Amino acid sequence: MRRKKRIDINYKEKDELILRNLKSALSLNHVNFKDFPDLLIIPQLYSDTKLYEDILTLIRNLEFKQFEVREYTSGELNKSSYFDAVFYYPWEHDDYDPKENRTLYDNRNRCPVCGRVEYQLTELLLNATKMAKHHIVYNYPDILVTSFTKEIIEDQQLTGCSFRKVTDCSKHEKKDIYQLIINNYLDKMDMEKTATDKHQYCEKCLRGAVLRSEIFYDIDSLKNATDFNYSKEYFGFGVYCSPRVIVSSKVRNIFKEKGIRVQSYKPITIVNYCNEE
Ligand SMILES: [Zn+2]
Repeated sequence: MRRKKRIDINYKEKDELILRNLKSALSLNHVNFKDFPDLLIIPQLYSDTKLYEDILTLIRNLEFKQFEVREYTSGELNKSSYFDAVFYYPWEHDDYDPKENRTLYDNRNRCPVCGRVEYQLTELLLNATKMAKHHIVYNYPDILVTSFTKEIIEDQQLTGCSFRKVTDCSKHEKKDIYQLIINNYLDKMDMEKTATDKHQYCEKCLRGAVLRSEIFYDIDSLKNATDFNYSKEYFGFGVYCSPRVIVSSKVRNIFKEKGIRVQSYKPITIVNYCNEE
């Protein structure tokens, strides 16, 4: 696995010399950067390079933040037993809300501190036109599947989920779709190892942190895992705030074989403390 980093460096007038050295190192190595007043951004730099190490040494006394995406080889993906699965979200740039379409909710599990999350009383009614040819998508926080996906999950006896009918209220070519309800919640992640940012975080309901690394689970936390699982923790804020969907390699293999595409599968790192040290 390779970690591709974005580094945002805040600098002050007194850091001029460091900044000059930094820019010349980046230019010499043909690495792009963006320079703003008091801020220099290196959009992409692999962390397994000497240049990355040199840059971290150079900026060690400055204020900086790092973000990363991880790239896995197919061999690494095929070896993994569980994945953090992310589905496409075709409504991404819409302000589409199923609540406007007469789905009813109540407040029974609303967080008293941040006010998030309602309990769904009636089936979802929504315009599914945007699902287009997708077979599994997010309509945050809900997951929608076609009858094709539902049948495969049932035929293959994938565990940890059930279905609820969705009414497509689009005008033309109504789709036969279902809400995928994930019923199994995992124990806590290993938060010593899993990196998060918590600037809009609610301590009461554990919602609103942003994930900044791969997910780590202690092997014991996965002993009750099924094929579909929700994490106990919620990540993201606003409309994106939801538990992570953790699926078994069986789900990934079957979905791949049947052509059910998802946005990404990121391997879960399983920590076995008995084998450490
Ligand atoms: Zn809360």
